[in-house]
Amino acid sequence: MKTVLFSLSDAELQKFVMDLGEPRFRAAQIRDWLNCGAPDFAHMKNLPESLRTQLDAIAQTLPVKIVKKLQSADGETTKFLLELNDCEQIECVLMRTTYGNSVCVSSQAGCAMGCKFCASTLLGLKRNLTVDEIYSQILVAQWELRHGDVKIRANGDANNNDVSHIVVMGTGEPLQNTENVIGFLERANRDMNISWRRMTVSTCGIVPGIYDLIKWGRPINLAISLHAPTDALRSTIMPINNKYKITEVLAAADEFTKTHNRQLMIEYILLGKRDDNGETVLYNCTPEYAEQLSKLLAGKNAMVNLIPWNAVDERDFASPSGNAVHRFQDILIKNGIHTRIRRERGTDIGSACGQLRLNNKKD
Ligand code: SF4
Repeated sequence: MKTVLFSLSDAELQKFVMDLGEPRFRAAQIRDWLNCGAPDFAHMKNLPESLRTQLDAIAQTLPVKIVKKLQSADGETTKFLLELNDCEQIECVLMRTTYGNSVCVSSQAGCAMGCKFCASTLLGLKRNLTVDEIYSQILVAQWELRHGDVKIRANGDANNNDVSHIVVMGTGEPLQNTENVIGFLERANRDMNISWRRMTVSTCGIVPGIYDLIKWGRPINLAISLHAPTDALRSTIMPINNKYKITEVLAAADEFTKTHNRQLMIEYILLGKRDDNGETVLYNCTPEYAEQLSKLLAGKNAMVNLIPWNAVDERDFASPSGNAVHRFQDILIKNGIHTRIRRERGTDIGSACGQLRLNNKKD
């Protein structure tokens, strides 16, 4: 197995290059490239060509390698399929938005949570990601922003080519890997200067994990994947609801938002089902459920993100019509609940979480 240079300490990297007969200062040169997310040694033009060739044979730069890179036709979304050293695969997504460059990272290879609408959990949980493996995902995105072909920049600013926002909402349940997720966010704040308020951790409702975040004390954003307003409905699509009920999850989330004076994000995927005639009927997004959701969230400092379902072949759901989505939103708005419909991004490149990884396994 090749040595991952990014994961070596400065002293270890110095020893590594000196063992190759190179002067000590080469380690600092290599470290600069690693911190920029250089995917290979060919880019390290200030190193002698012979050293680059030698390194290529025995080492790799980051603990993740790009297997596939898909670019949406509008240029706003880039999705990466990445391979780890043990050949497990993960995804991360770079989104160029009007408010900045946001990266959605994975925290686990696979997921054990078993949500019925999700592709990421179909192959089960393989393992937790390390701090280096999570952090490398934003380095991959940063490199793409600076060296990739797409010239679109957030806010139309040609110089804005830095990652500005982090969302831990890719494959995996972050609060099943809390220690490494916290280690990653600390590092992103320290080394990439990304502010706490531009970081969001999303959970399906691991209550002790939410209290761990409160104890940690950083003023990040918390998103709860709710997807249903009643326990009966939620338990049909999210097995975690059998362990932590909605009231318990929202009580922990309230505590978090009070402590940090942050608005709570509520994620709500809008699901339909096909009836016997092949027609789509609403599953969790009927007008009655909109009323129930309004009651549940009344008086809370919360923003509901409505997410029309992104089709996953293996899953027995359907996307509701645009009219149904807007009717659901209208009821929430009428009841005074802050809500927005999440713009569908990168549907042409399989942007549903876990879809790219799953498709690649099937190829
Ligand atoms: S939605 Fe999130 S928590 Fe649920 S199975 Fe998918 S990755 Fe896991």
